Amino acid sequence: KQKRFSAELTLPAETLDGRRIHLYLNAGLLSGMESPIADGADGIGLYRTEIPFMLHQRFPSEAEQIKVYQQVLSAAGTRPVVMRTLDVGGDKPLPYLPIKEDNPFLGWRGIRLSLDHPELFLVQLRAMLQAGGSGQQLQILLPMVSNLDEIDQTLEYLEQAYEELNVELASVLTRPKIGVMLEVPALLYQLADVAKRVDFVSVGSNDLTQYLLAVDRNNPSVSSLFDSYHPGILRALKRALDECQQYKLDVSVCGELAGEPYGALLLVAMGYTKLSMNQASLARINYLLRRVSCNQLNLLLERCLAVSNATQVKQLLQTFTEQHH
Ligand code: PEP
Ligand code: MG
Repeated sequence: KQKRFSAELTLPAETLDGRRIHLYLNAGLLSGMESPIADGADGIGLYRTEIPFMLHQRFPSEAEQIKVYQQVLSAAGTRPVVMRTLDVGGDKPLPYLPIKEDNPFLGWRGIRLSLDHPELFLVQLRAMLQAGGSGQQLQILLPMVSNLDEIDQTLEYLEQAYEELNVELASVLTRPKIGVMLEVPALLYQLADVAKRVDFVSVGSNDLTQYLLAVDRNNPSVSSLFDSYHPGILRALKRALDECQQYKLDVSVCGELAGEPYGALLLVAMGYTKLSMNQASLARINYLLRRVSCNQLNLLLERCLAVSNATQVKQLLQTFTEQHH
């Protein structure tokens, strides 16, 4: 079946009535661009920089980071690459930075940790800027943002790094586009202010689901409750898209939902046009989207938003996919 999906992969993902959907890769260790499957991707929508950090025995130096980031950028050719700053903490520990907390997912993770360690954060920002050079490919994404001050502080550090480097290198680097992960629910209600500060938002449906439902994303005892098809989550995702459009904020989804057939259908039905996913999902989602129309999806979404639980939502999605494939 994968073969059948792959045959069409180099064709752009487009619905039957011509809505172009951009599909990007989520990447970590390698860029994910090595495989021919990746030829069909429009770029890297999420490069998780914590993965190379986790494989080191100590914080990688600026030079080491530049090298890794350059490899990822060059693997993507001329396509855009969204690099996320360090998102350790929570379920992602660094062997050389032990963190002991009762509630790691509500604790010291992502941007919080970076802002508490400007000496480390600046090295990462400098490495990213240097890897990006004077090109247009690089975009920088901030994880676990829960308030606007975190964005403002980061923009100051970024400006500092940018100005230092322009002097040191006696050349002019590109100012990359900046985005924030929408994964802490409160930020959903501040998108107008977010739009004044950054260029784009990437919806982290994994953490957004975890925090909206108060369900640990990795705890098997409650795994049946962790469900991104919960009507409350769907409404939050729809609201996020509507508000991003209203405030002219570019938006994509990089959580697992974007790489699931049902999830991709729902997101496209809501109006999302940028989905980022693991390499293994790319061909299948492309194949699926090329066989549906926006009219059908609108109707589907209306129905999904009218039922009262995730099971009913998934039943509707199952019936829909059976009818259309
Ligand atoms: C998410 O939270 O949806 C996300 C994409 O980030 P991560 O899975 O790395 O936390
Ligand atoms: Mg996350």
